[in-house]
Amino acid sequence: MIPILDLKRQYAQIGDKIEKEVLEVLRSGQYILGKHNQALSEEIASYIGTKYAVTLNSGTDALHLALRALDIGEGDEVISVAFTFVATTEAIGIVGAKPVFVDIDKDTFNIDAKAIEAKITPRTKAIIPVHLYGQPADMDVIMDVAKRYNLHVIEDCCQAIGAKYKGKKVGTFGDIGCYSFFPTKNLGGMGDGGLAVTNSEYLKNRMIALRNHGGAIRYHHDEIGVNSRLDEIQAAILRIKLNYIDEWNEKRRANAYKYNKLFAQYPEVQTPKELDDTYCVYHQYTVKIPNRDEVHKILQEEGIGAMIYYPIPLHLQKVHEHLGVGVGSLPNTEADTKVVISLPMFPELTEEEQKTVVSKVVEAINKTKTACCK
Ligand SMILES: *Cc1c(COP(=O)(O)O)cnc(C)c1O
Repeated sequence: MIPILDLKRQYAQIGDKIEKEVLEVLRSGQYILGKHNQALSEEIASYIGTKYAVTLNSGTDALHLALRALDIGEGDEVISVAFTFVATTEAIGIVGAKPVFVDIDKDTFNIDAKAIEAKITPRTKAIIPVHLYGQPADMDVIMDVAKRYNLHVIEDCCQAIGAKYKGKKVGTFGDIGCYSFFPTKNLGGMGDGGLAVTNSEYLKNRMIALRNHGGAIRYHHDEIGVNSRLDEIQAAILRIKLNYIDEWNEKRRANAYKYNKLFAQYPEVQTPKELDDTYCVYHQYTVKIPNRDEVHKILQEEGIGAMIYYPIPLHLQKVHEHLGVGVGSLPNTEADTKVVISLPMFPELTEEEQKTVVSKVVEAINKTKTACCK
């Protein structure tokens, strides 16, 4: 059994520290938005390189409240991708705006930045690039088109904490950067959590008000908000883990390059490509292979924790059916949806395990070939 992610190995490394801090929170009597939230937002803002960070209940809320803070809603269009987790475009729907899909680039799984301009209309208010699998989107091209058309940019960094584009961390390019602390993310809590970063004091204050029922002062409510506060237990845990994120990301990268080397002699397996001058943090290690569904089934039977992220592109999901973006509209997105498979990837993965994964993948591809041509 080689799981896609094994959080127990991480816990074995830092469990003592976490148990000590959590116990202190339990004894403190302060459980929501206390000193750990305050400290975490300062520490993460400094880690990412923005003036402010606002702790929230999830990455989905970060995207949702970022849109709200920028006054995007009914009648507005927001450009994003269909090759992502549903939360990205769900947030656009939550505020009443319309997601407009741009196809992905053939090589990087990220938005085809040069295709954005053709989708801009007088209603377009913002672009949400997703740094998928921990690989930065092409921010120079995105920021250039955003500037020329006066559009906001909200970066979906939920899979990419610590990733860099031309030496600068993702999340610092747009108006707001959104992060998730869902347990499986590179920096994960032990429950739900999220965060938004910004350099704008105004946007920071808007999000602080929105996360707490639309008012900065208790029992004074200026607008409809939500309850999206982060609890102290999560903040305390995340503060401990933040000390390790660079080390863990480095190990993920080393594992990715080991996989690339091991797969090099098998041209049927297309390993992930990186944009020049980027620092990818490999939330997932995703390859493209032939006979993907059959190979996936064989790998599951053999105890290799491979997963499909994501099996149905968002424009073909029922939730977005009314947008009328049919089959064939996003060719690269639809093609990649059929061939991608994500392999076990986490900092503690061993070289032995990686060799096993690679040989099982190659074996499975060969098996599906003989099965098809007999
Ligand atoms: C996980 C994720 C989200 C949502 O984060 P939650 O904390 O689960 O709400 C949004 N976008 C992407 C790309 C994600 O991977």
